[in-house]
Amino acid sequence: MRTKLVAGNWKMNTTPEEGQKLASEVVNMVKDELNREVQVVLAPPFTHLHQVSRLIGDAKHITLAAQNVSEHEKGAYTGEISVGMLKAVGVKWVILGHSERREYFKESNQQLAKKLDAVLAGGLQPIFCCGEPLEVREKEDQNGYVQRQLEESLFHLSEEQMRKVVIAYEPIWAIGTGKTASDEQAQEMHAHIRQQLAGKWGQNLANEIRILYGGSVKPDNAKNLFAKPDVDGGLVGGASLKSRDFMDIIKGAI
Ligand code: PEP
Repeated sequence: MRTKLVAGNWKMNTTPEEGQKLASEVVNMVKDELNREVQVVLAPPFTHLHQVSRLIGDAKHITLAAQNVSEHEKGAYTGEISVGMLKAVGVKWVILGHSERREYFKESNQQLAKKLDAVLAGGLQPIFCCGEPLEVREKEDQNGYVQRQLEESLFHLSEEQMRKVVIAYEPIWAIGTGKTASDEQAQEMHAHIRQQLAGKWGQNLANEIRILYGGSVKPDNAKNLFAKPDVDGGLVGGASLKSRDFMDIIKGAI
């Protein structure tokens, strides 16, 4: 049985004060309203990590993520943040390969392979994002496109390393657009991803890996998406900035 996971990616939003308020609201709601096993992950901006880590404390169900990390351990990399720095402030997860990082910061599949190595070597868990742009979907080449992302970034990992990875399928045309993939489109791609994992590491491992859906997940569509057999939760952007909406999405995973 795969435990469902719902992660909130705050992106470059909230002041530290707003972040503190948002995190406390989520922590309290989860404490009061979540009585079943769902993992909740909060990914605030770097500047808020320490404070949000303290707010989470030893709250059941909730852990902390960073939105990115350097592949380097330390040194002359101005503006970068290392795995060690994240661990020191209580981070457990790192989102890697979000489409915004691929598009605006030119992160390649090859660079992401190195980031995955750094994250796993440091004992953190990656949430690895993949997904196709609209023009690829229109040509119906989405399966091949996502397959290449997986092959070039993940396929060098050992079975033991792969067990630590969570995959987030995020069709780019659905991120922040209000246009969600249909439940069937999500299920179809998640099954395809699981099939690729089975081909590489075997069916048992493929059955263990969690595959999240991301792209305009909202309280009113979360339940149906998360009910699909290969959809193991969600990576949520915009709706994770409103505690009530985020909590209602989390409840969609119960
Ligand atoms: C995301 O940023 O990963 C995302 C899915 O954003 P949104 O939920 O706003 O589409």
